[in-house]
Amino acid sequence: MTDFRVGVLGLGGIGSAAVYWASRRVGGDVLGVEQFSLGHVRGGSEDHSRIIRLSYHTPGYVELAKAAYLAWEEVEVDSGEPLVLTTGGLDLAPQDAAIGLEDYRASMSAAGVQFEELDAGGVMKRWPQWRLNDDVMALFQERSGIAMASRANSTHRRLAVEHGATLMDGSEVGSIREVDGEVEMLVGGRSERVGSLIIAAGAWTAPLLAGLGFRVPLQVTLEQVVYLDPRDLLQFHPSRFPIWIWMDEPSFYGFPVFGERAVKVAWDRCEILTDPETRSFQPRSDVTDAVSGFAARYLPGAAGPVRVAKTCLYTLTPDRDFIVDRVPGTENIYAVVGAGHAFKFASLLGKILVDLALDDATDHDISPFRADRPILAEESPIRSYMV
Ligand SMILES: Cc1cc2nc3c(=O)[nH]c(=O)nc-3n(C[C@H](O)[C@H](O)[C@H](O)COP(=O)(O)OP(=O)(O)OC[C@H]3O[C@@H](n4cnc5c(N)ncnc54)[C@H](O)[C@@H]3O)c2cc1C
Repeated sequence: MTDFRVGVLGLGGIGSAAVYWASRRVGGDVLGVEQFSLGHVRGGSEDHSRIIRLSYHTPGYVELAKAAYLAWEEVEVDSGEPLVLTTGGLDLAPQDAAIGLEDYRASMSAAGVQFEELDAGGVMKRWPQWRLNDDVMALFQERSGIAMASRANSTHRRLAVEHGATLMDGSEVGSIREVDGEVEMLVGGRSERVGSLIIAAGAWTAPLLAGLGFRVPLQVTLEQVVYLDPRDLLQFHPSRFPIWIWMDEPSFYGFPVFGERAVKVAWDRCEILTDPETRSFQPRSDVTDAVSGFAARYLPGAAGPVRVAKTCLYTLTPDRDFIVDRVPGTENIYAVVGAGHAFKFASLLGKILVDLALDDATDHDISPFRADRPILAEESPIRSYMV
């Protein structure tokens, strides 16, 4: 009865990767379904750039990040297109920062990843764009850079179709159920049957999982990025300016010039709770002001007029760890939640989910991402989003 061996619900960043990796394994026996148009901007994965880095707060994430780079390299070879731009990356922390550098130091050391330690003077000597107080310390990791988000998504989808996959857009999956060891999806009133289903629905995940009897305390937040017109564009060229993360509360992060003739700066976790159906697309002036204020203080050369500001959605688990697992109580349904930091891992997570869907196994340690971990069963869990 199955129409396809593998089904993928949602063709955002991770779903697009999943249809690609599935098509590499089972050719045309893959169906990808997206409720909006391909490449739409209503979710969490569309913009010119996302940060990719090896610097993470646990050795497990560092090891996963290493594998993520390898997955992107495979797609670059298959597509003939660059998808990752290396710029180097700075983790900057003032004294008593809310997000200490210690875990990052220890995790990279444990995973054998090289990095440099710099004080404020050392940072400003190498990157004179920065204006830092003396108490700021930094870690520099040379392989950090830009994952070209929108390009990567369309490349994954293009290759999937070239390998034989069927992609349906403008098709909302209404309900999902397991029948006789298969999975039936109702897509725009039509029934589609697949052997295994991967749910990569981003901000729309919780109600779909609730429909399968699995309640998970996700929060959807409205996030915002701001592109500022710098005084001197060349100063922020990728060859002269690395990606960076300000490890304090509020936490900001940014990029060299890429995709827009402007410098991108953003506030991680503005924590504006929202709903994917009713969310606003209007950038908030208080967020734009906070971002411009940060730039004026620490990156004065970038603190020009706002060229464009964009909103986007995070889907947050209480511990900000991913969910990558079979949906509890099901046999052939798998789900992923990216917790607001998964794009760098998108291709790898797509690959892992396909291996789970086809073999119920993966080479990678995903034990921290179990769907049945205790905090996900709590009615009102304590939320810690600072990573
Ligand atoms: C502002 C911002 C900055 C970020 N910066 C970084 C960064 O620097 N580095 C990093 O690694 N990560 C970053 N992230 C996080 C990362 O982008 C996300 O974790 C990741 O892109 C989520 O991908 P996804 O596929 O889970 O979700 P999405 O891309 O949102 O895809 C979900 C898809 O499912 C579809 N869908 C949902 N329900 C249905 C249904 N019923 N039927 C059919 N289709 C459905 C949706 O329409 C959507 O297309 C950032 C996120 C934001 C918002």
